[in-house]
Amino acid sequence: MTHSINLLGATGSIGRQTLDVCRRYPEIRINTAAAATSHEALAACAREFGVKKVCIFDESRYESLKNELFGSGITVTAGMDGLCECAADEDAECTVNAVVGAAGLLPTVSAMKAHRRIALANKETLVAGGGYVMQLAKECGVDIIPIDSEHSAVFQCMEGISGDRHSQIKGIILTASGGPFFGMKRAQLESVTPEMALRHPNWSMGSKITIDSATMMNKGFELIEACHLFSLAPSQVEISVHRQSIIHSAVVTADNAVIAQLGVPDMTIPIQYALTYPERRVSSSKPLSLSDIGQLTFEKADTETFSCLAAAMRAADMPQTTAGAVINGANEVLVRLFLEKKIAFTDISDGVCAALDEIPLTASDDLDNILAADRAAREFAESRSVADI
Ligand code: NAD
Ligand code: MG
Repeated sequence: MTHSINLLGATGSIGRQTLDVCRRYPEIRINTAAAATSHEALAACAREFGVKKVCIFDESRYESLKNELFGSGITVTAGMDGLCECAADEDAECTVNAVVGAAGLLPTVSAMKAHRRIALANKETLVAGGGYVMQLAKECGVDIIPIDSEHSAVFQCMEGISGDRHSQIKGIILTASGGPFFGMKRAQLESVTPEMALRHPNWSMGSKITIDSATMMNKGFELIEACHLFSLAPSQVEISVHRQSIIHSAVVTADNAVIAQLGVPDMTIPIQYALTYPERRVSSSKPLSLSDIGQLTFEKADTETFSCLAAAMRAADMPQTTAGAVINGANEVLVRLFLEKKIAFTDISDGVCAALDEIPLTASDDLDNILAADRAAREFAESRSVADI
């Protein structure tokens, strides 16, 4: 069980649910906390949990945060340096990375180099930099406990397999809700609005991941994330659309047994497990009643319509390259432009596919290559949107 955490992304959807778990289990202390722009919420969290140090990524909010915390004795930092400092702070045994986007990559690296255990919600860390990050985790002897519900499910299912897991595991079944537009075709998707895309059927999440769920980019990212986390080839991962989000994912063993993890869709379950691991503790979540749910259904994903998923499958087949960094960087910019109503929903997948086709790929075992690919993809996506308008 973890007794002290550095919490990056403390004011977001995962961050706030992590705070709820810590309210329930006050023996989990919050050592440092960080956020992008919301200095008031960060200051409130810092005071409530008596944190030692905070970081506001947006440097223009530094003075405001300092004023909010005047007289508290809490150290205030800003920018990427402050974020990496909070991530690596050695008074906590575990760093919870709940930042959104590739901004989470450098703090993950920094926490690993300081030998902190990582509780990882920030999937973009592995999508953009998986090859490098997994190698670094090995070298530093750092464990990564996944928070993403599917990966937490796989992690939990694997816990029950003793001995050499590699030879005993045939593959995994990664479940997908399908998002709000499951069953639609391209012509219908062309006119969907951000308001429609933000209405996820099962989960309440931050806006970026909610759009990623609507394009199914999220499932593509999760495929890449799973391959890195569990050393799997993409061919060992079956993606199955399961509209009810009750089976969070499953492991298929050599003897064709399928071990699944089920529960109501509630992120506090995987968050709490990442913090209490390897213990199980009482949770505030609702218990699951299968007879109340009635039916669990499974369908194939439509990769032709949801071409972000197809692009991620291509990227997953090239794990030694910067393909992951390219699709992630382009996607981040395109999602923002869609939310700002500057491009259409289908421009997201078109832009991601074009970025993967056009941006030269380099080796992904080098952090500078990953950061360069991320920059190139962002520039590509920005210029495309200008050209398109
Ligand atoms: P969110 O937008 O609600 O919150 C993001 C948090 O990160 C906020 O606290 C924000 O201030 C902070 N942040 C953003 N950029 C930052 C930066 N550069 N420096 C410091 N802080 C920064 O997002 P979320 O839904 O909580 O998702 C967070 C991560 O968890 C994402 O990678 C997402 O894919 C993953 N995830 C989320 C869910 C979910 O249910 N919300 C489920 C699975 C995985
Ligand atoms: Mg998920």
